Amino acid sequence: MNSTMNDVKCPNLVEWLDWVILMCKKGDSPYVPSTTELKSYCKNKAYNKCPHSIKFDRALTVKNLNRVADNCEAIHG
Ligand code: SF4
Repeated sequence: MNSTMNDVKCPNLVEWLDWVILMCKKGDSPYVPSTTELKSYCKNKAYNKCPHSIKFDRALTVKNLNRVADNCEAIHG
């Protein structure tokens, strides 16, 4: 009944042709993870520690903050 750890993978990982083609959909443009990244993050439960993912989450946060600042400027002049 237990699901095996081997089944865990990053939800951003896209696979075609039975792992022949691998791509990451995180970020603004398609990214092909390196073999090291695949082994260390993409194909196991450490995917939430992936540097590529963290980089884009940070960028997103900065974008959101900029948007909030723009809105404040628009409201308060
Ligand atoms: S672990 Fe990182 S590089 Fe791999 S698919 Fe997920 S976000 Fe992309």
